[in-house]
Amino acid sequence: MSVNYAAGLSPYEDKGVCGLPEVFDSPEELTVKVESLAKLIKESECLVVHSGAGISTSAGIPDFRGPKGVWTLEQKGESPHFDTTFEDARPSLTHMALLGLQRAGYLKYLISQNVDGLHVRSGFPRDMLSELHGNMFVEECEKCGRQYVREKVIGVMGLKPTGRYCDVVRSRGLRACRGKLISTILDWEDALPDRDLNRADDASRRADLALTLGTSMQIKPSGDLPLLTKRKGGKVVIVNLQPTKHDKQAHLRIHGYVDDVMKQLMELLGLEIPKWEGPTVCETSTSASEPTTDVKPPCAVTAKEREKKVPIKEERKRAASQLTDDGSIKNEMVDVKRERADSAMATNEEK
Ligand SMILES: [Zn+2]
Repeated sequence: MSVNYAAGLSPYEDKGVCGLPEVFDSPEELTVKVESLAKLIKESECLVVHSGAGISTSAGIPDFRGPKGVWTLEQKGESPHFDTTFEDARPSLTHMALLGLQRAGYLKYLISQNVDGLHVRSGFPRDMLSELHGNMFVEECEKCGRQYVREKVIGVMGLKPTGRYCDVVRSRGLRACRGKLISTILDWEDALPDRDLNRADDASRRADLALTLGTSMQIKPSGDLPLLTKRKGGKVVIVNLQPTKHDKQAHLRIHGYVDDVMKQLMELLGLEIPKWEGPTVCETSTSASEPTTDVKPPCAVTAKEREKKVPIKEERKRAASQLTDDGSIKNEMVDVKRERADSAMATNEEK
């Protein structure tokens, strides 16, 4: 299947700002900034990373709004060029470095807008990962929710049936579930998956450091999640070549290729970048010998805290919000209203 997955979705007008010029820090500046980032990571207790299309461009998968992005080219009347397929794409240095950061205990949760499946295929534990816009390799039972990670792309998008059925055998019975399996890839109007969004939201609120890699943060609500960390007193670090919607919110902005930044970062932290040995799926971050019931990741929330949060339907649809010329946020009003709605609902529940 073509890696231009957007071409398989409904036509979508609100593409946000495409093709902004890229900015590069000088090598010296980059080193100083990555040193600051390493220090912030060492001091952090709960690092959460947000990844976007920019971390997969070195794997041959085009982004949307970069200088060679599918939408930037489309606006110029040009066609994008593809070097790979989803099945042949190899995780980038950044994907593998994130796995190294997780194994070393620094990275507590990973939130991705990417559908290319490279985080999962790199072996990143799925219980520490939210894939907010779906995964090309994952299909899900619409009856029992069981997900199946396949070796090949599912072939359909927009949460449509894949033609296969769930083979989970129900407890005490010999009958399989037989629910219809559907694609996990969202179309533009689809609400984000509850489980992934709730976990991403929780982790973002818990985090004291949000690191965004290769995203211009123009898609809502995914792009706004790092702001939750900031509102709770944490810091936001942005690594992106183009300006992003939330540059003004950042404690540190690094303008360099994510692979260069991650390579230097891992050296400074004294960590190896794991070698990729072919597609690997890792379901849980705890090994089989450990009891799974008592294990609670540092960014986990209690059930009581979870109950307080009421997801708001409107904010869960994807939408590109407008980026003004100076990179400031045009939708400030929406955020304020949402905060109020959140606190009003929390108050009601407490009564
Ligand atoms: Zn099922």
